[in-house]
Amino acid sequence: MHPRRTRLSLAQLQERGGLVRTSADIDEGAAPTLRDLTESLVFSPGDGRIWLNDQRMVLWRSSTYGGLRSELIASMGQEQARSLLTRVGYAAGARDAELVRRMWPDSDPANAFHAGPRMHKLEGIVRPETIRFEFDIARGDFYADFWWHDSSEDDEHIAAFGIGTEPACWMQVGYASGYAIAFMGKLIVYREVACRASGAEVCRITGRPADEWDDPARDLHYFTPDASAVRVRRSYAPVVSELSRRRPQVDAAAADAGDGASPIGISSTFSAARHLLERVAPTQATVLFTGASGVGKELFAQTLHGISPRAVGPFVAINCAAIPETLIESELFGVERGAFTGATASRPGRFERAEGGTLFLDEIASLSFVAQGKLLRALQERHVERVGGTRVIKVDVRVVAASNVDLRDEVAAGRFREDLFFRLNVFPIRLPPLKERRDDIPLLMEAFLRRYCRQHGREVPGFTPRAVQALLQYDFPGNIRELQNLVERGVIMASHDEPIDVHHLFRSGELRGAPALGLGGGGRLTAAPIVEAGPGVARGGRQRDAPGTPSAAGKEAAAYRNALVSARYNVAEAARRLGLSRAQLAYRLKRHGLS
Ligand SMILES: [Zn+2]
Repeated sequence: MHPRRTRLSLAQLQERGGLVRTSADIDEGAAPTLRDLTESLVFSPGDGRIWLNDQRMVLWRSSTYGGLRSELIASMGQEQARSLLTRVGYAAGARDAELVRRMWPDSDPANAFHAGPRMHKLEGIVRPETIRFEFDIARGDFYADFWWHDSSEDDEHIAAFGIGTEPACWMQVGYASGYAIAFMGKLIVYREVACRASGAEVCRITGRPADEWDDPARDLHYFTPDASAVRVRRSYAPVVSELSRRRPQVDAAAADAGDGASPIGISSTFSAARHLLERVAPTQATVLFTGASGVGKELFAQTLHGISPRAVGPFVAINCAAIPETLIESELFGVERGAFTGATASRPGRFERAEGGTLFLDEIASLSFVAQGKLLRALQERHVERVGGTRVIKVDVRVVAASNVDLRDEVAAGRFREDLFFRLNVFPIRLPPLKERRDDIPLLMEAFLRRYCRQHGREVPGFTPRAVQALLQYDFPGNIRELQNLVERGVIMASHDEPIDVHHLFRSGELRGAPALGLGGGGRLTAAPIVEAGPGVARGGRQRDAPGTPSAAGKEAAAYRNALVSARYNVAEAARRLGLSRAQLAYRLKRHGLS
């Protein structure tokens, strides 16, 4: 059972310039610290949300997990329950690794790796203590040995089943493997070599690359769903294919939507609207989108067209509010030469141009009464007459309309024809405002970030925890369009390689979100200090390894340079004076181009 040791010694690795870290080098003060991670945890009780950065969390009793776990064991059998929980833990670990790599892209990889164990601790699952840790991300070299104190999974297992012969920290071991695999881009297997549930005083886990274990299949088979667990396989199959990928992938929903081609979301209100869209798309029914400005009505209309049998035909959009009342009829129905002064040539209207396709009429409530009457006739009789013309032109057009005011109110006020309202309101779809679909904000942030980085040729790694927190709590009166504008502003304002912070997003006066709670120093919930807008905002010590401004980076570089000079270029000595380890200083010097 002992792992084969075929690796080079540490000294040899260091000689070859590998990025080697041992446990002695782990700097509790380097980003992301436990405090940095703690600041990513935000309670938003007004919304009924808890966030870990941009991921929704749930606070539940350890005993609830214990109950679920016991039920799984009883219904599936121990081996299958273990396999399922290992994979669930794996997925959580992989997500956390992705979060850390995204949030702290510039931090020392060995320190960043330890965000995994710190996160496990912050989430209250287990308290890891490093026994030994060796790491070389470039060479894929990895050896980790941890004590696991007070495992919550063991507490629950022992309470239900007592002490047995097998280790029981299944989900936790899955987490450790998932985290390491996603972080290293290499198949790392953790094994629980001692466990409280099998009589040990403290649990202990060891992690190594799979090919360095004598019998990795023994652990790996828990990653693979059992053939009899069909439903389980369906839900978790991606875990297995993920093993071979270098980096965990972003949600496919976000990945294909970065170009704005289709609406993005996973929230239940969004999904309901999307479901209605898919139901009605194959039909010829008139669709009426309602919802506030900026919720994405045109994008929905385009998507409706794109997934309908008319997709091969044209999609023609017109904003009725943007066209002067005197021109709207000729715009919609076309005009014959000489119909009025200035009509020097005949031209087709939008109806004719949308022949065989879809005509999208935005802000339909702003149509004049006369235009409303003509529109009604066009819808009923399926033909139009150009302004000043006598010829009847047959049209085959599906009309999709949108309004940001309630058309029933407009009817009641005598401003909108009731017969037209009923003609349009065949299949209404209400699009929710962004504050009713907060779970979609992270997806949208990610998609817009990628879109605008590409569009403006910039490399912005992501958002600071504070910026994420501000966006998750902001009310977005301008809805998705406002979020889009904020992210574009952030991409332009942030310096190269610097994550977007609050002051890149908001100018004064925009921020007035609901109060949120974060963890205070004593571990109690306190009002989370969001953020005043403005360039003078304090950086609060976050992102230590991603200097905020060129001058901050410059100061940091100067401090290292001075320390080096005064230590006569003895890196170890300079590091000692700066309170860093030699490896840390070497890494930072390299990052500042000073090595
Ligand atoms: Zn254990």
